[in-house]
Amino acid sequence: MAQHENLSVVLYKKHDLRLEQRPVPEPGPKEVLLKIDSVGICGSDVHYWQNGGIGDFVLKKPMVLGHEASGTVLKVGSGVQHLKAGDRVAIEPGIPREIDEYCRTGRYNLSPTIFFSATPPDDGNLCRYNTHDASYCYKLPESVSFEEGALIEPLSVAIHACRRGGVTIGSKVFILGAGPIGLVNLLVSKAMGASQIVICDLSPNRLEKAKQMGANVTVAVERSISAKELGQKVKQALGGAMPDISIECTGVEFCVQAGVFATKSGGVLVLVGMGKPSTNIPVLDLIIREIDIRAVFRYCNTWPVAVDMLASKKIDVKPLVTHRFPLEEALEAFETTKKGVGIKVMLKCDPNNQDP
Ligand code: NAD
Ligand code: ZN
Repeated sequence: MAQHENLSVVLYKKHDLRLEQRPVPEPGPKEVLLKIDSVGICGSDVHYWQNGGIGDFVLKKPMVLGHEASGTVLKVGSGVQHLKAGDRVAIEPGIPREIDEYCRTGRYNLSPTIFFSATPPDDGNLCRYNTHDASYCYKLPESVSFEEGALIEPLSVAIHACRRGGVTIGSKVFILGAGPIGLVNLLVSKAMGASQIVICDLSPNRLEKAKQMGANVTVAVERSISAKELGQKVKQALGGAMPDISIECTGVEFCVQAGVFATKSGGVLVLVGMGKPSTNIPVLDLIIREIDIRAVFRYCNTWPVAVDMLASKKIDVKPLVTHRFPLEEALEAFETTKKGVGIKVMLKCDPNNQDP
């Protein structure tokens, strides 16, 4: 490994994405140096590339993209006990910087000063080598592949959403949106014991994928119907019952509204999708039927559970991956993701291992 050879995908500014060599970093006492293997491209990576920011997170200096990653430990810092060179790990991108009240109560995702890979100004891990806090690297058993390890990041969003929504044995769940996030919510709802899962989308291809991945019913959304009508369609799809929990994974106002109308009285609407800063909701319907809205921001305490669920084959995330590119072709991979063909695009960062 030459000290200066660390091919990295760097976003300079809106529409200016470059592949460049950066130095290989040295791990601090609590860190590990990783040889990155697989990195999934997330909608947010594309959004930063296309818009230069998301809400208050605005790119002010060049930033390495990527936060859905796995790799192999090459070197450990002097204080690292639980990992050694050669260990394969999945990387949790959010590292709290201080033990504040959120951290103390286990909700470290809400800590305002948290480090988060590929959220300005913090660099991500779309590169050949990176350092990371060892406590946020989770050892993968042999049976879990690098790509599955990388997919623990989006899977974590769903574990957190289903926990927040209270999905449990026998739940009837309605998922709005069959993109990567809707699909992982489908997988986790099933694993948590949901008896019936209805999923809707505009795209027939995505609904087909949802069907293959275990949805009981798919509902094709036509642009002409109202949010209330979509709610009715879901009720029909469930043979007259209404979902206990709806999980909104589009960020589209229409879907937030349909989520309210669809949910059973006393049920829960989980908001995962991030769209406009303000959204109109049918608040009277919400009040009269006592529907709880619960918001989801990333995740906390999910990696250990996710590793176990993958190792025990209770969840299969492999069908999510539809495209693979070597790191050198990152720009093409981003173009492919932007087009919205397929589901998850993986970048393969180790030139000596392009396997799943
Ligand atoms: P995506 O764009 O790939 O998927 C969204 C899906 O919604 C698409 O398949 C699209 O066809 C469908 N859709 C759009 N309009 C629709 C409509 N009117 N009716 C039905 N379906 C419709 O995105 P993704 O990667 O799956 O992410 C989904 C959302 O989750 C995004 O808004 C993203 O920002 C958000 N997200 C939030 C968090 C969080 O921490 N809260 C984390 C990750 C992603
Ligand atoms: Zn992501």
